Amino acid sequence: MSSYMEDRLIEETAIALLRRSVAVLPPDVLAALEGSLLLERDPTAKRELERIIANVKEAGACTLPMCQDTGLPVFFAKMGFAVPGFEEAVARGVRRATEEIPLRKNAVHPITRRNTGDNTGKGMPYIYYSFEASDHIDLTVMPKGGGSENMSALAMLNPSAGIAGIKRFVLETVVNAGSKPCPPVIVGVGIGGTADECMALAKKAVLRPVGSRSPEPEVARLEMELLYAINRTGIGPMGLGGDTTALAVHIEYAYCHTASLPVAVSFQCYAARRAHARIYKDGSVEMGGE
Ligand code: SF4
Repeated sequence: MSSYMEDRLIEETAIALLRRSVAVLPPDVLAALEGSLLLERDPTAKRELERIIANVKEAGACTLPMCQDTGLPVFFAKMGFAVPGFEEAVARGVRRATEEIPLRKNAVHPITRRNTGDNTGKGMPYIYYSFEASDHIDLTVMPKGGGSENMSALAMLNPSAGIAGIKRFVLETVVNAGSKPCPPVIVGVGIGGTADECMALAKKAVLRPVGSRSPEPEVARLEMELLYAINRTGIGPMGLGGDTTALAVHIEYAYCHTASLPVAVSFQCYAARRAHARIYKDGSVEMGGE
């Protein structure tokens, strides 16, 4: 494949991913919402969940955005081979998607608040990179709504705070957030690393399918304990009370300095949008598998 073709392929794939992600809720998230509806005991919460489920199904059927906030374009790229101009091709895809889908024009200069009108700008779209030896690129988009992103939090705890300190910080963050991240939420928790790495771990944790558990038993136990505790807060769907505050808690961790215990929380709202494509070196593209 020529680099011109690769370029076009990345651009078109970015548009297709954005189109799919804003309209079609991943099946694991929809199944978790439907499962919560069966278990929910609060009548108001049940009604809210029914409305949320009806809304996302309608959006999927009409291929229309499930929320007016179509988010900031955040991508995760696992690169099996290099494509010259990759970032610019993704940015072109974002610009065209903003017009063609259309998407809300969310990206502004942080100081002047000038809106570029196309969801791009310095550092935007944001792309997390990782690398592997393969014949393909895995490209995932996670449009990130402002309501959930605004509730993100980082604490550099004293290591003596231990697991109790981690739990306290996560729970306090969820309680302080209340209705603002549009619950039921997926709570991504990063533990360890450096401060910036910890925040990135929390964001990546949000991407995991709902229902997945950490393969490490002590981490999986902490995920379950936190999910149970969060759902006992009574915040409920859209903050109106009930049993269903979170659909999942996902934890990712990294080794950290012996003097540090960083903990980060990233929220994803009920509109937990993500879409994935695998782009092969021969020019073929597989959509789905998110
Ligand atoms: S937090 Fe999510 S559901 Fe709420 S307004 Fe933002 S994008 Fe929409």
